[in-house]
Amino acid sequence: MADFETPELKEYPVIPLLHEGTMAHSKPYVAKPEFQEQLGFPGELVENWEQVALDKMQELTGKYRSFQVFLDSCVKCGACTDKCHYYLGTSDPKNMPVARQDLLRKVYRRYFTFAGKYFPKLVGAVDLTKEVLDDWYSYFHQCSQCRRCSVFCPYGIDTAEISMAAREIMDSVGVGQKYCNEIIGKVFKIGNNLGLPQPALADTLEGIEEDVEDDTGVKVRYPLDEKGADVLLVTPSADFFAEPHVDGLIGYGKVFHEAGISWTMSSHASEAANFGMFIGSYENMRNVSLRIREAALDLGVKRIIMGECGHAWRVAYSFLNTLAGPFDFLDPKYPIPQHILEFTHDLIQRGALTLDKSANDDMVLTYHDSCNVARASRMGPKPGGQFTIPRDVIRATCNHFFDMPQDTIYESTYCCGGGGGLLTDDLMELRVKGALPRMEALKQVVEQNGVTHMAAICAICKSQFAKVLPYYGFTMDSIVSVHQLVSNAIVLGSKN
Ligand code: SF4
Ligand code: SF4
Repeated sequence: MADFETPELKEYPVIPLLHEGTMAHSKPYVAKPEFQEQLGFPGELVENWEQVALDKMQELTGKYRSFQVFLDSCVKCGACTDKCHYYLGTSDPKNMPVARQDLLRKVYRRYFTFAGKYFPKLVGAVDLTKEVLDDWYSYFHQCSQCRRCSVFCPYGIDTAEISMAAREIMDSVGVGQKYCNEIIGKVFKIGNNLGLPQPALADTLEGIEEDVEDDTGVKVRYPLDEKGADVLLVTPSADFFAEPHVDGLIGYGKVFHEAGISWTMSSHASEAANFGMFIGSYENMRNVSLRIREAALDLGVKRIIMGECGHAWRVAYSFLNTLAGPFDFLDPKYPIPQHILEFTHDLIQRGALTLDKSANDDMVLTYHDSCNVARASRMGPKPGGQFTIPRDVIRATCNHFFDMPQDTIYESTYCCGGGGGLLTDDLMELRVKGALPRMEALKQVVEQNGVTHMAAICAICKSQFAKVLPYYGFTMDSIVSVHQLVSNAIVLGSKN
């Protein structure tokens, strides 16, 4: 199946012995000049790259206070060392969060601290060389920016921010990652990661309408670019056709239908994902976000609702207003933006949906908390809503639900292994190995509770699991969308 060995699933997680350099070969393809230049970066490694990189590092430490604090404050306590799924899955010591940070910190010390300038060996400071740059490229593309390590660090040091900064520095010298940068370019040109133009989207949605009508006998609409609708739904483009994502989109439409609310999707903002965050580029993140604002203004909607996507929700919840606001033209009665789960949850709480749980009786479910939702955002009016709302919705739509072990869920959740711009086939070994802790947790509930399916609310998690589950002996269709459960259980027309 692959030219690497899939790790063995253990009954209890084991902290692996160190195997130096086992993942040094793992590097994503470098972006070609045309993909670099369309984002405003140099096409290839610039001549004076060392100086450009150091200038960028200085700019970032000045711009983001947190970045400098993180570089200055690590006390090497070791609390984070066994917390990263990539270390647990690969046993490469440079995948320990503190070691990953140190790749950058050593250079920072050398050029920006007194001790590093005059006594580099004493403080572990190193010169910025091509070997160091190569190590950055390899290991900062082995961090999914999931923030799990930061939960366990007594100083709250966030390796995700350091890895974003490292990628931004690399982009600034002309060494960007193909997968992310090519995708951002597609969003700018066409409106979504997959490069689906308006006619293809319209065609797909028409097909979905026909399928749902054949299946249920009810004409549920999946509108595109409809001016004057109340709600603009912005969802990851994978929802338009990929399994199991599309079953979630079918569910959103059924919920809107039952709520009696007019809604639309937009071909201009046909992508919730925002890979600008993965490469640490404020400008690119902003340009992607502005498309949502433009679409909302053009269509004259009153509300923005985001579909199931982890990092898209992180950007929307945490930064949308700063990046593309103010949204004073929207109805202030509703959260700006709102998550589709908040919307569905509210309807369930108010008894506005009829749900037949037995429709999901062929599944015994567990739930994977997506890292960006769990640790980088919130949902609903109460703290912890990002954990309780999805579980409330799952429990309202099925009879059999079991959580995975406590230290692998909620704020301690493990990344799926494909987040942070790593969901590319050239990183398959890393993705499979990084999924190990989640797979071990899944195995426990499979064996103890007879779990057959895992639900998720992130497009990247769904794609990643569909691909890696078979490596561990599970079937690829054991990953489902939460709104797929809603779609199965919802009784259409019962409240009309
Ligand atoms: S942010 Fe996540 S992927 Fe990155 S070092 Fe920390 S635990 Fe590992
Ligand atoms: S837990 Fe925090 S302070 Fe301790 S080694 Fe890791 S990053 Fe440094």
